[in-house]
Amino acid sequence: MFLGHIGLAMAAKRVAPKTSLGTAVLATQFADCLWPLLLVLGLEQVRIAPGITKMTPLYFVAYPWSHSLLMDVIWAAAFAGIYYAARKYKAGAWVVALGVLSHWFLDWWSHRPDMPLTPWSQPKYGLGLWNSVAGTVVVELIIFFGGLAIYLMATKPRDRTGSFALWGFVALLILIWVGAVFGPPPPSVKAIKASGFGLWLIVAWAYWVDRHRSTAGASDGSNASAQMVSR
Ligand SMILES: [Zn+2]
Repeated sequence: MFLGHIGLAMAAKRVAPKTSLGTAVLATQFADCLWPLLLVLGLEQVRIAPGITKMTPLYFVAYPWSHSLLMDVIWAAAFAGIYYAARKYKAGAWVVALGVLSHWFLDWWSHRPDMPLTPWSQPKYGLGLWNSVAGTVVVELIIFFGGLAIYLMATKPRDRTGSFALWGFVALLILIWVGAVFGPPPPSVKAIKASGFGLWLIVAWAYWVDRHRSTAGASDGSNASAQMVSR
């Protein structure tokens, strides 16, 4: 799952309008942000096995530290704790915690049975949505565009950057996803590691988008007028 994680992050704006989209994307994609680092350190392993699922040729041999349920609970608590200490914003801390945790469940839905419960346990789980191209495309697009619609309703551009940064973000994500789904398999594990770090750029881009948009204040008129004054 790729677009689905980002869609969920965009939808979080409804629950925690003061939390940046960048923070929300970092939360829902936290496991995948850690992953390339752990691959480089040799703590996790991936191979290329075309045909292993219909959607991706990636064979996730082992990813106990980024993609086990127990570790994702720990990452969620740690990230949310740090966020709360820094921002004192309860709704945002919940978005961060549930966002990090949501990654495991969305991956569990899409992956073949390769998701462990703890770093040490043998049984692995996965419902295998990736064995259906149509199913994956429908689910990813519904979550992504659903999240985008919520983000568009909850925010408005502060300036022109607020518009084109968002639409550039959307276009880039769809391009990456279409390339991954319908393009050739990655040439090497080295290429997977390198492109894995590209996710950090997407997080940075999400912060950039959010800085140029303000919450529309649909549910809070005073908020909206305050923002109009500040513009
Ligand atoms: Zn993942």
